[in-house]
Amino acid sequence: MKAGRAARALKRAPSERGRARVTFAARLTFEDVSKRYGENLALDHVSLDLPPGEVLCLLGPSGCGKTTLLRIAAGVERPTSGRVLLDGQEVAGPDRFVPPEKRGVGLMFQDFALFPHLTIVQNVAFGLRSLSRAEANAEALAALARVGLAHYANEYPHILSGGEQQRVALARAIAPRPSVLLMDEPFSGLDPRLREKIREETLAILHETRATCIVVTHDAEEAMRMGDRVALLRQGHVVQTGRALDLYRAPKDILAARTFSDLNEVPARIENGSAKTVLGSFPARSLADGEDAIVCVRQRGVRLLAPGEGIPARVLDLRFLGDVALVEMAVQGLDAPLFARVRESDAPKVGSEVGIGVDEGAVLVFEENGNSLNGVS
Ligand code: ADP
Ligand code: MG
Repeated sequence: MKAGRAARALKRAPSERGRARVTFAARLTFEDVSKRYGENLALDHVSLDLPPGEVLCLLGPSGCGKTTLLRIAAGVERPTSGRVLLDGQEVAGPDRFVPPEKRGVGLMFQDFALFPHLTIVQNVAFGLRSLSRAEANAEALAALARVGLAHYANEYPHILSGGEQQRVALARAIAPRPSVLLMDEPFSGLDPRLREKIREETLAILHETRATCIVVTHDAEEAMRMGDRVALLRQGHVVQTGRALDLYRAPKDILAARTFSDLNEVPARIENGSAKTVLGSFPARSLADGEDAIVCVRQRGVRLLAPGEGIPARVLDLRFLGDVALVEMAVQGLDAPLFARVRESDAPKVGSEVGIGVDEGAVLVFEENGNSLNGVS
């Protein structure tokens, strides 16, 4: 059957963009996985369960354990405790350790170096050593065709742009048809515009391969764009997992909220079940009167009104961010400036007096210690 597949791939015109070969996706489960390096607990009881074919974005700041988790899934690192399962079978744990080459798990490193002395098709065929040379070549060509680079097959990597190198690395990762594909900050080396394009292309290919995927990123927007679900990692533990919209709407704590949205943070005091601020009162029933709280207002939830309407404010500064403008304002009774994101064409003049209103749907209330009061357990 492999030979037939290879023959079909060989017949394909090199310039044609093929479809990614379909994989049998696997369920990937981390059960209470911890990893210790000396004193340093890099992973702290991580549990995650990815159904077959899911794209999960693992989001977190540098040093929080993202790479370590991928390395453990791939089998290049062993967990200190806990288990990793593929389709319910233990591949790492107290009783078993399946080596990387027997797992069907592909790992695309953050600094995916291509081999400069190998042609591009040889680079892609590198992980296909279990196939005959002709078969490996055919599979590699098919993967290259899928990323639109079959015409470079016999060239060497130095002629490629950054985006093209990225696509070759992706072809190399999908060529063995892994049932689980792990990508470590795959777009971090690309400039923003190219990054968006390559990200969309990659997502289309991931969906086509149907492999179960973890994509690591420290960019919240990227995570929300790419992931069927997002897992937020902090200091080695999973803070929250869910669909992007759920994390955005109901972040578990103030740090999670800051990750997913640009916020104004306003001090509040609880009175009669409401968090009272200079900007108005917002429901906070689970807190006792007299307690302190933090009211977060998304920057896009601050509305600009005519002078004399709403709460008076003065425009201190304006920054244009393309389609939107960031308006910095002084509000009486607030120590810090208040920021609003408005359409570029609605931006007021610096120094002008305006009124502001707050969109209630853009408010999140947190306890003083940063925990959410918005119904997330
Ligand atoms: P991330 O990928 O999220 O930036 P890492 O998984 O690379 O984070 O690292 C998590 C923590 O584990 C860091 O504190 C890092 O210094 C530590 N660490 C990672 N690999 C090793 C190692 N081989 N030896 C010792 N410490 C390590
Ligand atoms: Mg890393």
